[in-house]
Amino acid sequence: MKFIYSFIVCFNVCCAFGQITPESEYYRRMDLGQELMYEGKYDAAQSEFLFVLENMAVIPTELAYFFGRNSFHLDAYKQSINWLNKYLQLKGAKGQYYDDAIQYLQFSEDKYMELQRNKTSVLSAYDLASLQYDCEGLDKMICPVCKGSGVIFRHGIFDTHYQTCPYSNGEGYLSCKNYNLFMMGILTPHDSLSR
Ligand SMILES: [Zn+2]
Repeated sequence: MKFIYSFIVCFNVCCAFGQITPESEYYRRMDLGQELMYEGKYDAAQSEFLFVLENMAVIPTELAYFFGRNSFHLDAYKQSINWLNKYLQLKGAKGQYYDDAIQYLQFSEDKYMELQRNKTSVLSAYDLASLQYDCEGLDKMICPVCKGSGVIFRHGIFDTHYQTCPYSNGEGYLSCKNYNLFMMGILTPHDSLSR
């Protein structure tokens, strides 16, 4: 009897040890990651989630939500969108975290779109800049209006008179910046100085 009792105790202990399988360790780390995320320790949470993602044979669906939400906080918006979508796809509206998943998906999509827009505007600003003439490294360009003379001729009915070039202010040259503005048709002539 004592032997059997010992056996049962031993068996129970063995089972207790047996429960510390990798599987439960994964769930423990997933819970830990979740706590870290709620505490705002997103990097630490990420490493817990990644450990589970990389090692667990079958990923629990909830992890898609946790990882997706945490990714938002790490500014990995595309990754966040992918994982939250995955969660919603798998669990649908019945998922425990459905509302939160929808909310964070919205956050990430907004941020992602914002980044895409900024990227586009940076790109078009660059494209526009690259269209500008570099003036071949010169600071000044000969004014295309007065052709460097600083004056323009006005042909009147009885005579021809000339006036100070309103674009180059009589200097006959344009700065590279103004030259580009002129070529874009947006250089304002200095009419007040023309007489
Ligand atoms: Zn000029």
